[in-house]
Amino acid sequence: MSTLDSVLADEDFAEDRRGLDPHERISCRYHRRWAHECVSSPLHVIPVTGHRWCRGCDHPLSVAVDDLLGVVVLTCPRCGETPDTPATQQIVRTCRASFAASHGTELVKAA
Ligand SMILES: [Zn+2]
Ligand SMILES: [Zn+2]
Repeated sequence: MSTLDSVLADEDFAEDRRGLDPHERISCRYHRRWAHECVSSPLHVIPVTGHRWCRGCDHPLSVAVDDLLGVVVLTCPRCGETPDTPATQQIVRTCRASFAASHGTELVKAA
């Protein structure tokens, strides 16, 4: 069983049985991939919650993933801003965690 398979199984269970927030997952239930690998899919644009969404422009945020550092940058192609919202911070945080998990490394806690 790969790391991804076991994380998917754990998070599916936690979401259904223990109320894990689906947006806190580091694996994607729909794509069956790491969060950072499919966050650029249009399916991860959720205007209702503000995930990958610029409320000021009513426009999806574009995603850039640095495959070396595991840094995910979300920017609005209309206004050029990164929305400073809990939803945006959550995506950056979970993608960083999924990147670390996919490389078998502990999440670096430094600022
Ligand atoms: Zn996905
Ligand atoms: Zn915008």
